[in-house]
Amino acid sequence: MYPSTFRYARANSLSQAEELFAASDDAAYLSGGMTLIPTMKLRLASPGDVIDLNAIPDLAFVRRKGDLLEVGACTRHAEVAESAEAQRILPALAHLASVIGDPSVRHRGTLGGSIANNDPAADYPAAIIALNARIKTSRREIAGEEFLTGMFSTALEDGEIVTAAAFQIPSRAGYAKFPNPASRYAMVGVFVADFNGTVRVAVTGAGPCVFRAEEMETTLARTFTPSAIKNISVSSEGLNADLHASAEYRAHLINVMAARAVEAALG
Ligand SMILES: Cc1cc2nc3c(=O)[nH]c(=O)nc-3n(C[C@H](O)[C@H](O)[C@H](O)COP(=O)(O)OP(=O)(O)OC[C@H]3O[C@@H](n4cnc5c(N)ncnc54)[C@H](O)[C@@H]3O)c2cc1C
Repeated sequence: MYPSTFRYARANSLSQAEELFAASDDAAYLSGGMTLIPTMKLRLASPGDVIDLNAIPDLAFVRRKGDLLEVGACTRHAEVAESAEAQRILPALAHLASVIGDPSVRHRGTLGGSIANNDPAADYPAAIIALNARIKTSRREIAGEEFLTGMFSTALEDGEIVTAAAFQIPSRAGYAKFPNPASRYAMVGVFVADFNGTVRVAVTGAGPCVFRAEEMETTLARTFTPSAIKNISVSSEGLNADLHASAEYRAHLINVMAARAVEAALG
C-alpha cells in the first residue's frame, strides 16, 4: 500500500525540528524509517508532516564520556555493532546491536527510533534498564526507567526529540536473546550487568514492557554463575502470549536466556 499524502522537511537543527513539529497539526519525526515508513504504508499512521532528523549535526556517534558510553539518537544499529569503542568497553551492547533484525534493518534503524517507539520486543530497552542509562532529549535528561513507561509508550512530550542515551559501563555484562525466527525481534531477551557486585537484570520481549528480574539480581549479586539462577522460578503471570509463544514458554525462556547472558558476561 502507499501512504497517504504528506509533506517532507529535513531539519538542520534540533530547534528547527521542534519549530516544524509545533507548526504542524500532526507531525512525525523520521529517523531510520524502519517503523515509521511501514506503519505509514499500512496507514496505521498518517502524519501530515514528516520531519527528517538525519541532517541534524552530532546525533550519530558512539563515544566514551568518563564512566559512560554515549550513543547518539541517529546512530544506526550497525554502527554500534561495529564501533571499536563499544566493542572494547561495552561488548555486550555491541553484541545486542549486532543481533537486531537483519542487515538492512541494522543499517537503517537507529537507537533513537527504537527507544522512542518502545516496542515490547525491541532489544535496546533491555540495555537501557540493565545499564541504568539516562536518556538525553532536546529538552532534558531523564532516567531510562522513567523514560520507558509502557507498551509502545515513553515519557516523551509532544515534539520532544531523543538526542542520545548514556549507558553506565559495568564491570561485566552479557546479553542473550531468543529471536523470533521470522522478524528477529526478541521473543525474550535478557541483559545482565554487574557493577562491581551490584547486578541489574532486564528482560525484554516477555512482557508488555521491559522489566527487571529482581530475584535474579539479588541471587547473582551473591553468586555470579549461570547455575545460581537456573532454579529460580519465573512466574508466567502477566507475560505476553501470542501465536509465537505462550506465557509459560516465555517464562521458561527468561531462565534460559538469563543463564546464557551470565555465561556471556563471564566470557
Ligand atoms: C523487519 C524488522 C525487523 C526488526 N527486528 C528488530 C529486532 O530484532 N530488534 C529490535 O530491537 N528492533 C527490531 N526492529 C526495529 C528496528 O530496529 C528500528 O529500531 C525500529 O524500527 C525504529 O526504527 P527507526 O530507528 O528507523 O525509527 P523510525 O521508524 O524513523 O521512527 C520510529 C518512531 O520513533 C519516532 N522517532 C524516531 N527518532 C526519534 C527521535 N530521535 N526522537 C523522538 N522520536 C523519534 C518516530 O517519529 C516514530 O514514531 C526491526 C524492524 C524491522 C522492520
